Amino acid sequence: MSQLSLNTFEEDSLRKTYFVQVLLPVPIPKTFTYRVPQKYEEHIQVGIRAIVPFGKKKIITGIISAIHQEAPNDYEAKYLLEILDEFPVVSRQQFKLFEWMAQYYMATEGEVLNVGLPSGLKLSSESKIQLNPEFQLEQSPYIFSQIEEVVINLLKKEGLLSYQQFAEITNTKQTSVLIKDLLKKQVIMLIEQVQERYKPKTEKRLRLQKDWLDKAQLNELMQQLDKKPKQLDVLLKYLQEVPVFNDRSSNYTGVAKSIFKEEQFSISSISTLIKNKIFEEYEVITSRLDYLNRQENLDHEITLSPAQEACRDELNTIFTEKDVALLHGVTGSGKTEIYLSLIREVIDSGSQALFLLPEIAITTQMIQRVRKIFGDQVGIYHSKFSDAERVEVWQGVAEGTINFVIGVRSSILLPFNNLSLIVVDEEHESSYKQYDPAPRYNARDTAVVLANIHQAKLILGSATPSYESFYNAKTGKYGLSILTERYGEGSMPEIEVIDMRRQKAKKLVKDDFSHSLLAALESEMNKGNQAIIFQNRRGYAPYLQCETCGWISECENCSVSLTYHMHQHELKCHYCGYRQKSPSACLSCESTALVMKGFGTEKIEDDLKLHFPDVKIQRMDRDTTRKKYSYQQIIESFESGETQILIGTQMVTKGLDFENVSLVGIVDADRMMYYPDFRAHERAFQMMLQVSGRAGRSHKKGKVWIQSFQENHPLFSFLLKYDYEGFYELQLKERHSFFYPPFCRLIKIVLKGSQADAVRNGARLLHESLVSKMGNQRVLAPHEPMIAKIRNIYHMEIWIKMEKGYPLESTKNQIKSTVTKLQENSQFRKLRIVFDVDPQ
Ligand code: ADP
Ligand code: ZN
Ligand code: ZN
Repeated sequence: MSQLSLNTFEEDSLRKTYFVQVLLPVPIPKTFTYRVPQKYEEHIQVGIRAIVPFGKKKIITGIISAIHQEAPNDYEAKYLLEILDEFPVVSRQQFKLFEWMAQYYMATEGEVLNVGLPSGLKLSSESKIQLNPEFQLEQSPYIFSQIEEVVINLLKKEGLLSYQQFAEITNTKQTSVLIKDLLKKQVIMLIEQVQERYKPKTEKRLRLQKDWLDKAQLNELMQQLDKKPKQLDVLLKYLQEVPVFNDRSSNYTGVAKSIFKEEQFSISSISTLIKNKIFEEYEVITSRLDYLNRQENLDHEITLSPAQEACRDELNTIFTEKDVALLHGVTGSGKTEIYLSLIREVIDSGSQALFLLPEIAITTQMIQRVRKIFGDQVGIYHSKFSDAERVEVWQGVAEGTINFVIGVRSSILLPFNNLSLIVVDEEHESSYKQYDPAPRYNARDTAVVLANIHQAKLILGSATPSYESFYNAKTGKYGLSILTERYGEGSMPEIEVIDMRRQKAKKLVKDDFSHSLLAALESEMNKGNQAIIFQNRRGYAPYLQCETCGWISECENCSVSLTYHMHQHELKCHYCGYRQKSPSACLSCESTALVMKGFGTEKIEDDLKLHFPDVKIQRMDRDTTRKKYSYQQIIESFESGETQILIGTQMVTKGLDFENVSLVGIVDADRMMYYPDFRAHERAFQMMLQVSGRAGRSHKKGKVWIQSFQENHPLFSFLLKYDYEGFYELQLKERHSFFYPPFCRLIKIVLKGSQADAVRNGARLLHESLVSKMGNQRVLAPHEPMIAKIRNIYHMEIWIKMEKGYPLESTKNQIKSTVTKLQENSQFRKLRIVFDVDPQ
């Protein structure tokens, strides 16, 4: 007896205490140590989520990143409250990527986790909780405790509860357990913002009540209904759609009630049939990815043209030696088809593939095509999708049910564990770069590292590669494969530059349109063709100016001019959303001689509607595509030929594929070329080539008209010949002589604050101490950015320019510690200082 108790005692005192490091989605550069309650010891794993206390009252979800037995020596570790997963939701490879991103982009791993992890996976005291719309108490297989039932009823009544309200009902210790259990039983879901509340789409359906499924019964029913022809019609239609006679089980899914919408069926007889217990009406939830999910027959075939096949073989050959290949293929060459055929091979071999696209290029067109080939192995990750949809993809990837993801830049942060191939299409796109919040990463460059972590291959594809990538390909760091011909019968459209100076002198310009462009448009419209008109500026007129005193309408909070929006007769700031009624007289001298200067898409739309009153014209820009499906609607209407002229900002330059477009007009090329940025010419060339690529995609010959006051600019001579490389060579010489990427590395430091003086002085001091460490060659003088004030916050920038080979990691650490030092001074404590590595 005594023997035994001694043993127990000994064992108890020798029992090991476990600790975990938890990575929290907060901007603090370290992980936190928590103690593991004994009941969880066996369940602890790296990569699962844990709920932990944070600060005085908060609770927050983090990821366990390490398990060990060393108690922290300067404080007593708190117990973690709860673990949320049985299997890791963050993969081993992801931890490596997070670490790299945090280091390279001068952010913290917590910030990386925060942008990566969908909010539905982050339970915290800030969480809001709603009932899962798919939950039905009567049908749930689970047993619910009393307190759970209280909560369910309350949620039914209130719709939405905060974590605090939850905690008031239960006691604080139990709250997270309760939430976890309800999550597991699929009763509730977490949401971050009220707007995001997830309501599923439902559909009303009809089926026969079970009693009628016997052949004999059914025959009798038909006889009964013989005297009620309207009801019989409904039944016959039903039997025509659902072969109950041959297959009773087909009744189970029934038909959508909407098929009886046609005139020949009477609504009231359907109601009678339901009332008489012949039909049963029920509701189903159509999947969240509804419009993407249309059941279509899988079609595994991808047939490549000889040129495409040669290109694919070339890529495979490159991959025997290199991990990254640049595919430079003209617009319409069918790069997507090549990617898909390579992705097919990867998935068939049981590994994962990731296909990154700019948000705007993930069209229904594209998704349907891919679903047809890959079925539901594909996950779509798009920023317009709700958080619930993102959680679905995240978990699918972690659990291995999704092998292939098509997504926007943040899909680089999904929990892959077995990637073999990454494709970054339109790799030149600046939307791969995240501006805010940190980490300010570029998904294209991060893909190179991700590929390396997984020993995967990477294809960067574009008709107009970024100069960084093209340089890497030319110098042999990446492989290069070139596709010069369009798929099928399409050929590259002819480009003509209109000399606006001469046209203006000859009085051949009306409403910013040259006579030639209008005539060409008219002729194409008469032939029944379609046109795209491109202007990289939304709104009506960029600004309002007083002709008497020169006053310009400016935003009160930002140092930018206000944009005139005709529809609301308002002046708006595109940076802070400030708006005011358009004044009828100058606010400075009261003269009424106010004129509109410049022009945006909205004005072009109005002008063209006057020129072509009988033509259906639509506009696609940020103002017309705010709703989830409005973008889709515009595209579909243009695709079907209903819309004849599509006016748009750079939204129209991406990935769209319309057969019938024979004319592309670029209204103001100069706007893009004379932008104060070393990449302005690169971008202008890319944009013009991309938008030109929308014409002449079928047998129809296309033509591109470009209006410019600088028609002798060398850019055009290369553009007319589609000479991407020629213009690249020319630009590269300039980049070299002015020492810009790809010849140097840039880091942008931005200081922000509400006190102009503090911002300016802080920038001056920071500059001084950085110069003393790195030399004044590498640290450029502080300057105001083009827009020096946004929402009443003043901005100053310092650019760091480093030659290749200059130590990067230590320099970044040096910059960080210099900034920390600066902020120890109370004068500068309130400044927000952000780092942007490889700014775009
Ligand atoms: P890119 O992305 O290179 O500009 P796309 O992938 O949009 O070109 O292809 C242009 C058009 O040609 C699309 O309509 C595409 O469906 C079609 N296409 C390209 N290759 C094939 C192929 N091998 N089989 C069938 N259609 C193809
Ligand atoms: Zn004035
Ligand atoms: Zn503003």
